[in-house]
Amino acid sequence: MKRRRTRVAAASAALLAAVAAGACTAEPPAGPPGARGPGAEQSRTGAPGSPADRAEQARRSQTLRAAAAAKWGLERVPLAAPPPPAVKPALTTREGFEVAGHDRLPPVFTTVPVTERVVFLTIDDGREKDPDLLRMMTELGIPYSSFLSDYLISDDYAYFGEMRDRGVALHNHTLNHRYMPALDYAEQKREICGQQDRLARRYGTRPPLFRPPYGNYNQDTLRAARACGVKAVPLWAAEAFPDRMEWREWDRDLHPGDIILTHFRGADEWDGTMVDMIRQVMRTVTEKGYAVARLEDYV
Ligand SMILES: [Zn+2]
Repeated sequence: MKRRRTRVAAASAALLAAVAAGACTAEPPAGPPGARGPGAEQSRTGAPGSPADRAEQARRSQTLRAAAAAKWGLERVPLAAPPPPAVKPALTTREGFEVAGHDRLPPVFTTVPVTERVVFLTIDDGREKDPDLLRMMTELGIPYSSFLSDYLISDDYAYFGEMRDRGVALHNHTLNHRYMPALDYAEQKREICGQQDRLARRYGTRPPLFRPPYGNYNQDTLRAARACGVKAVPLWAAEAFPDRMEWREWDRDLHPGDIILTHFRGADEWDGTMVDMIRQVMRTVTEKGYAVARLEDYV
């Protein structure tokens, strides 16, 4: 696998520069020399932001994504997500996940109510800090959201700073990854508010989203989360590993709006690298006809 990656690296160096440029500027990256004649200019007839212009940009970014997919060993090119909704869907707590007074507390859900074939990718904890993951996701243009626990990221805050610089939202997964229902209200509040403060100080934004460790919570957890400024509590409908998916639903399938959980883990913790894990989950997502969308565009 190493050897294969080295072999394609040279061929895609120029592409990577193009990908990086495309990700950071409104100007679409220059195409290959053959595409730069008057014909190519003519195909971009629309003004910036017009339907013709957007279609051309989408076509170009899908071309880049196809090259990135080949580089990173994906069998299929990830599908492009539709434009974000003008209005975010209203969220309610999933049936069976309620606590007393849940309608006044941040909603707890495993799926975002949408009709389009999009799913959301979330990565938890923060122990493994694989630079290949940052590169892969940027080059493929796959959005994801991170839920970070301070005790696991504190040996390398800079890694997640680079992740944020690449457009990834960093959310709250408590200071010390304790089992919340075993703690009283004040202890839970310290775990949640403490991580809000730390993430805000380190990365400049107070996260709107919180995920309790192990997905376990009680009314105190949600009351504390609300007091700490949390707006919503996304759990997950499926969990991704390097070699398999695990499903919450009886039909063992994806559904529009499903949230996928995975973890920052290395080959010492599970059977593969972060890159292997992304390959596996994207195979499943793309084969089933879904695109990965940005959670923060919907929640
Ligand atoms: Zn966790």
